[in-house]
Amino acid sequence: MRLYEYEGKEMFKQYGIPVPRGIVVNTGEQARQAAVSIGKQVVVKSQILGGGRGKAGGIRVAETPKEAEEIAQQQLGMELMGYKVNELLVEEKLDIENEIYMGVTIDDVSGMPIAIVSAKGGIAIEEVARENPESIASSLVDPMYGLRGYEAINLVSQTRMTGKALASASSILCQLYKVFESYDMRITEINPLVITTEGRLVAADSRCEIDDHSLFRHPELEKVAVDRIQDFWEREGAKAGANYVGLGGNIAVMANGAGLAMSLLDMIDYKGGHAGCFLETGGGLSRERMKKGVGLLLRKAKSDPRIKVILVMARMMMSPPDAVAEGFMEAVNEVKVAIPLVAVMRGRESYQKRARELLKGTGIKLYLSVEEGVNEAVRIAAK
Ligand code: GDP
Ligand code: MN
Repeated sequence: MRLYEYEGKEMFKQYGIPVPRGIVVNTGEQARQAAVSIGKQVVVKSQILGGGRGKAGGIRVAETPKEAEEIAQQQLGMELMGYKVNELLVEEKLDIENEIYMGVTIDDVSGMPIAIVSAKGGIAIEEVARENPESIASSLVDPMYGLRGYEAINLVSQTRMTGKALASASSILCQLYKVFESYDMRITEINPLVITTEGRLVAADSRCEIDDHSLFRHPELEKVAVDRIQDFWEREGAKAGANYVGLGGNIAVMANGAGLAMSLLDMIDYKGGHAGCFLETGGGLSRERMKKGVGLLLRKAKSDPRIKVILVMARMMMSPPDAVAEGFMEAVNEVKVAIPLVAVMRGRESYQKRARELLKGTGIKLYLSVEEGVNEAVRIAAK
């Protein structure tokens, strides 16, 4: 999960990394007041979950509170790089002498954290890596020990910084590593780390991405993670505790298990069909899971005329067939939509039988063979 700039800066602050004085606002009037309370020139920064805002016009300097208000009014509600701007960060403007880059991420090759610094800040590091690779210095970090002071100094000194700036930048890098580690981040970046004309070092931007697999360790962030998923149906899927992937064809697919879902997609493909989306609910199917999953695909079908058929596959090893059938029917009775339903019920022999008995006469086309079920779904979709 990506964090907003102001959220990352809040974490930086907790770890002693200097950040500009700033206030988050969502109206023009609040922006004006923020500029008044900061009491000098400010930068008005659109808060979106993507970088490169500077170039796209999402970062503007305001000389006066009145101007901050005007800029805020222009930016709020604006669409910037595919994101709607709902919040702004109004910050004291820094007088920039120099901009450098520092970041911590995971090195794909070694699987270890890697600390990276570059004298070329303010530009995306990917771009620097292409155009000026010689300006980048990096060092793998042993996660047992963390980033040690001398390692940080060694690394930062490769940017030709000396004296107080070197000491200050090195200690910021150590703290940045601690932020990275404490929040289980995949990437933690300060770009640019500004050296002001008075010689202060300040983190002018933050880019932080938390590894979604560790969100359970950060319950306060886990709560907001789902709301941040951009795509409506993906978000609905996550709310249902499942994984939804949109695919663009006309067969909506659900299966309890990612491998199972992928195999179904593969077979649909092989039979000349086109999956419209798939929903993977995870292994154990409860009544609730079944209801939420089928309900989601029914709602999708209701709102998207491209979907011609829903194919549900349940493999019941531990999942009780009564719960599976009940959840299925609860969804069908709740979300009324005229769409053909094909279901493949597999798993333990007694479970298959029981589920088919329970669903008989409901209008759902029931199959024991995966191939036959897929054939039927593809046939309906091709009509
Ligand atoms: P990004 O484009 O989304 O990465 O947004 P940044 O926050 O990194 O800002 C982009 C650029 O705007 C920076 O590299 C700076 O050159 C400039 N900028 C940001 N904040 C300030 C500031 O306080 N003062 C000045 N003079 N420039 C700033
Ligand atoms: Mn930046």
